[in-house]
Amino acid sequence: MAVTRLARTTPRRKSLPLRADNTAAVGMVTLVGAGPGDAELLTIKALRAIESADIILFDRLVSEDIRALFPKGTPAFYVGKAKDNHSIAQADLNDLLVAKASEGLHVVRLKGGDSFVFGRGGEEMLALKKAGVRVVVIPGITAGATCYAGIPLTHRGISQGCTFVTAQGETELNIDWQALVRCDHTLVFYMGLSRASMIENKLLQAGMSANMPVALIENGCCKQQRVIKGSLKELAELVVAEKVQSPALIVVGKVVELANDLQWFAEAAAPLAGQSDLTKMSA
Ligand code: SAH
Repeated sequence: MAVTRLARTTPRRKSLPLRADNTAAVGMVTLVGAGPGDAELLTIKALRAIESADIILFDRLVSEDIRALFPKGTPAFYVGKAKDNHSIAQADLNDLLVAKASEGLHVVRLKGGDSFVFGRGGEEMLALKKAGVRVVVIPGITAGATCYAGIPLTHRGISQGCTFVTAQGETELNIDWQALVRCDHTLVFYMGLSRASMIENKLLQAGMSANMPVALIENGCCKQQRVIKGSLKELAELVVAEKVQSPALIVVGKVVELANDLQWFAEAAAPLAGQSDLTKMSA
């Protein structure tokens, strides 16, 4: 879908009541997590917020099936970011959120997964709070919830914890790789595809077994979900050989082996659930 131009006109306010003293209503922003793609994984609360919005500003990972739930007539604009392809700079987006809320509108800011997990929801909320705009947050299921891949993030006797890590940014400076290996948790890397080789090397250098199971989950929770399994020593090779595309997660840990017994989605549920298609994303 082509990037929609932002409206210059103000949509008609439909949801916010007048104040008790009859002065103009005050706008607000609802930060909504849309989950990993399957529209049925949207919460009831998220759907209600979408239905009551005056304007919706959505991200790249909000699937077509979820966008189909936007009420006709509610202005909705793509403000997402693909890697190296920002449709709108974060500072401008923060200003836009403040401006629309200041017009008295109920702005729904819809993001893939959970807004507070690598979603910059915290940054947007800080800017809004600073500007005196009321904000509420509705959680979403984060992509790292790997049930559809048959991978329990924790499992008694196998993994006592789980660590979500972003492989973008100043990772090499900020990540304590030895600590990651030492804690022996399941590791879930977001935004890691282009840095698979670095992740593999750093974990090996930090002493993780070359045979540690890994999984690549492409289009998790969507009907075309792909789960590719292997071992740490072949992680980077698998990304290339299997032509893994974004969005994808890298899961590292012994729990990955459980997917051999616990996988269910591909055979049992695909015809019934997960109809979302992230290949038809907005950008
Ligand atoms: N706030 C989001 C994460 C945004 S960062 C959340 O909570 O899920 C974007 C990264 O999330 C992607 O690069 C990818 O690593 C991961 N991701 C998001 N949706 C995904 C999906 N359906 N399948 C696999 N990975 C996904």
